[in-house]
Amino acid sequence: MNGLFKPRKKKAKVAPPADAAEPPAAAAPEHKQPDKPVLTFGDLGLAGWLVQACDALGLKRPSAIQRLAIPPALKGSNVLGLAETGSGKTAAFSLPILHKLFEDPYGVFSLILTPSRELAAQIAKFLRIIGEAQKLRVQCVIGGEDVVRQSLELTNQRPHIVVGTPGRLVECLDSGLREMIGNLRCLVLDEADRLLENARDDVKAVFGALKKPQVLLYSATSTKPLETFSGALKCIRVEGSKASIPKTLVQEYVFCPKRVKLAHLAQVLLGFELEEKRDEESKGTPADRDWRPRSALVFAQTCRRVHEVHAVLAHQSIDARCLHSQLPQYDRTKALEAFQQRRSQILVCTDVASRGLDLPAIDLVVNFDIPRDPDDYIHRVGRCARNGHQGLAVSLITQSDLAYLAAIEGCLGSRLAKCARFSEKSLPLQDVARAVESVGGLRKDLD
Ligand code: AMP
Repeated sequence: MNGLFKPRKKKAKVAPPADAAEPPAAAAPEHKQPDKPVLTFGDLGLAGWLVQACDALGLKRPSAIQRLAIPPALKGSNVLGLAETGSGKTAAFSLPILHKLFEDPYGVFSLILTPSRELAAQIAKFLRIIGEAQKLRVQCVIGGEDVVRQSLELTNQRPHIVVGTPGRLVECLDSGLREMIGNLRCLVLDEADRLLENARDDVKAVFGALKKPQVLLYSATSTKPLETFSGALKCIRVEGSKASIPKTLVQEYVFCPKRVKLAHLAQVLLGFELEEKRDEESKGTPADRDWRPRSALVFAQTCRRVHEVHAVLAHQSIDARCLHSQLPQYDRTKALEAFQQRRSQILVCTDVASRGLDLPAIDLVVNFDIPRDPDDYIHRVGRCARNGHQGLAVSLITQSDLAYLAAIEGCLGSRLAKCARFSEKSLPLQDVARAVESVGGLRKDLD
């Protein structure tokens, strides 16, 4: 299946996405809503045991992406599903796979590729719960864990479904996985835009090991490489709710010189006094003085910067966890669990946490580093203020970031407001300078 992979041009980062105004590269058929109103998962043609399993999980009515994507997937078509995180896309690709698998079970029936280990673990967990009654066997093949043990488990357990990250899957191809996936019926690329952008060679190697499976592509964002790829596969294109800025989200920026950026971050986090273990809904709106966020995501551009920012916050007695791809898997899992279970209110992270992960309601997103790509900005701040909750996104802008800010504002079609909440006089400059000094090893631009 390697004819799908053509050499690609490097994507320009600062300018607003070139593909925004362009039509899809290949005319993909658009799936129409069925004439009869769809009310239940049973109406979509799913097996009774799956309808019951959905019901037991509290999934009573199919979401938009599920209504649109499940029928063509059941018919065997390749599908491109565009839907934001939280719109039910995991179930949209999992349910038709499980329906077909248990008509005539064998392993490996399906392979699901994701860009992050945490997302792979989350999908595997969903599959195990929904397929429990049928004794579904799911195995995660992800980096950061013992590769020999994973290969042995693959051979011994013969999973029905493998969920994995591309690098580790390719590593396992020559230790038995290639033979196991030879008769695979369905391949899923979740967060397909990212996989094609960051792991294209690995994805190509996986495709090369397959005959001609059904392909389901899911993404929150439509990019040109994804449209080209799905066009070549003649995918039926369905759109649920797109990644967008929630109406209840207030977006602000703080302009600060580079050398005092950390002090501004500490001021924002200390200024809001995130309340520990507070369960009830925040009162008022981010414009109110007494508004208190319960949980915050702080985004930095690289693993190293996450690490450094986290160390400085810890020195300031700001309780935070950190998540980035260079951490040992055990630490990644623990950090995410602590944040998901609200034992920690702040997660400092790279874009590994900006998409796909099922996170608790988030009230505050801080872009310590403003993203280079406006799409990443939308994904990051879109984690906040969901389901009608109030939320605030604050971006720290330095003298080097003005072009990125302009690109984001161009993409949003509106300007971010200047954050008027904090005074320069109350910046914890000396405390942070001491913290930076004691943490050591910080790069010049963070000093
Ligand atoms: P996603 O990340 O898009 O897969 O969305 C996952 C979240 O949506 C999970 O919390 C699911 O339990 C929930 N979810 C999925 N489908 C439905 C549905 N039809 N009705 C209600 N919640 C759903």
